[in-house]
Amino acid sequence: MAKRQGRNRYAYFAPSMHSGLLEKLDLADELRGAVERQDLLVYYQPFVDLSDGTLVGAEALVRWPHPTKGFVPPDRFIPLAEESGLILPLGYAVLDTACRQAAEWAALRPGLKISVNLSPRQVQDPAVVLYVQQTLARSGLPPHLLTLEITESLLREDAEVAQHRLGELKALGVQLAVDDFGTGYSSLSRLHDFPIDILKIPKPFVDGVAEGAERSALARAILDLAAALGLEVVAEGIEHPEQAHELHRLGCPVGQGFHFSRPVAAPDFGALLTAAAPAGSGGRQ
Ligand code: C2E
Ligand code: MG
Ligand code: MG
Ligand code: MG
Repeated sequence: MAKRQGRNRYAYFAPSMHSGLLEKLDLADELRGAVERQDLLVYYQPFVDLSDGTLVGAEALVRWPHPTKGFVPPDRFIPLAEESGLILPLGYAVLDTACRQAAEWAALRPGLKISVNLSPRQVQDPAVVLYVQQTLARSGLPPHLLTLEITESLLREDAEVAQHRLGELKALGVQLAVDDFGTGYSSLSRLHDFPIDILKIPKPFVDGVAEGAERSALARAILDLAAALGLEVVAEGIEHPEQAHELHRLGCPVGQGFHFSRPVAAPDFGALLTAAAPAGSGGRQ
């Protein structure tokens, strides 16, 4: 159906563009099926204490094992899900799975935190507050162990709705993080207006962190800003030990990246959790 519509509507496009659109419509259809059949998986990437390598939490990252294409990258299908509205059922399924899983892990490792990405569409949905509340209640996860990662663009567009909604979410006792902080052109002065707890330093700023004052300037600026505003910081995309070392030296408490571990399936994360002693074990993968 979508295919036929696409064919009529876009018939005047160049052939390459035409097939690109059809592929996109097909992928969107397949994604809908995958969400309905609950084929999507949740992977978990560790957060690590940069002072001693202890595992302190995980970020939940959705995975789509496609029957013929292998794992489709989220950067390809999340935008499709946002356009079609599928992001709501998709996002809530991830939240549900992640909270139930985290409640189990928190029993093994008290205080272990879980982060879940919320798309702007979800924050705009008035039902999100009740949904998060019910999910927490169902899972038994203490609210302060859940962090919701929002995108910086949300603070710029629809700022009033965002401010209101984030206030309601915050009132549930969860933590709020700004993902990829500094890449979304939000106004710094607006940070004060939102109940944010954590800034995530994006990978592009982490890349240069061990390569001198100039290349580390943006990461340092975020660390300074966070200190001034009393916010926590997590550095993303740490691939090399020198980056972990330098970020720790600059005062960044927590990191995440392939240097420590790639995102892994739940049983593998459980194994990391039981293998690593609670403190001082290095946690390197
Ligand atoms: P993000 O939330 O900023 O997640 C971090 C991304 O960086 C993940 O990619 C992760 O696998 C990758 N990453 C982590 N450490 C490293 C590293 O050391 N090197 C490199 N090169 N990459 C690293 P992933 O899983 O492909 O997700 C991409 C984006 O898709 C996420 O960026 C997030 O914006 C979105 N996403 C993923 N899962 C969900 C979800 O459940 N809901 C929503 N709304 N968005 C999601
Ligand atoms: Mg994230
Ligand atoms: Mg990020
Ligand atoms: Mg990202």
